[in-house]
Parts: sequence; C-alpha cells; structure tokens
Amino acid sequence: MENCLFCKIIDKSIPSDIVYENDNLLAFNDINPEAPVHVLIIPKIHIPTLNDLKKEHVGLLGELVFTAGILAKKLGIDKDGYRTNFNCNDAGGQTVYHIHLHLLGGRHFSWPPG
Ligand code: 5GP
Ligand code: ZN
Repeated sequence: MENCLFCKIIDKSIPSDIVYENDNLLAFNDINPEAPVHVLIIPKIHIPTLNDLKKEHVGLLGELVFTAGILAKKLGIDKDGYRTNFNCNDAGGQTVYHIHLHLLGGRHFSWPPG
C-alpha cells in the first residue's frame, strides 16, 4: 500500500526500532510510547482495520497475539503484567490504518481505560 505508514516501515523506507521480525510480522517500538514498554506488532500484509479481517487471517492474528506473549517475556513484563489492544476506527482511537497490536507494560493500567 503506497500511502500506508506501516507498510513503509515494513519495507524499511521509513526507519523504525525493530524488536522482532519474521516472514509474517514486524514488531517495533512505538515512536510516542504510552508506557516504558510500548511495542507495535503488525502483519506484513496490509489490512486497514479489524473490520477488514477475513477468516483466512485468523492464523495470522493468532500469531500476532502469540508474539505479544513471547515479547512480553523477552522484555521482562510478563510477571508484573501488561496490556494488549487493537484500536478500530476513529471512536476506537485508531490513527494508523494498518492493523497493529499494542503491547504496553512497565507501569500499571486501570480498567476501564480513560
Ligand atoms: P493507533 O492510534 O492507530 O492505535 O496507534 C498508532 C500508533 O502508531 C501510535 O501509538 C503512534 O505513536 C504510533 N506511530 C505513529 N507514527 C509512527 C512512526 O512513524 N513510527 C513509529 N514507530 N510509531 C508510530
Ligand atoms: Zn499498510
């Protein structure tokens, strides 16, 4: 996708601080972190929002969530705990229209979020 910021991060035309990468996904530090640990985990294929998911994407989504757990351990936030979330569309707080799983940790989060 030509005008997608995260597709440009995937093809490395825009630099990012990469935490993990494989054939299916990329994980990198958020440029404006909301917590001491704030990683974005994204699929390498362009899917704009959760509303665009198809059944064929279920395995890929599972891999994103699985990777969040692996990275939480690697980054030392697994024992204290952490938050994962997908934002969808404007009311959900989505600003970049390429799905991404936020992995946040290193501080306490309340529920419901503000
Ligand atoms: P959203 O609000 O769509 O759920 O999350 C988008 C996230 O992308 C935000 O937390 C924002 O800080 C992050 N972000 C926006 N532009 C860039 C960028 O160029 N590089 C990185 N690493 N993160 C970005
Ligand atoms: Zn994209």
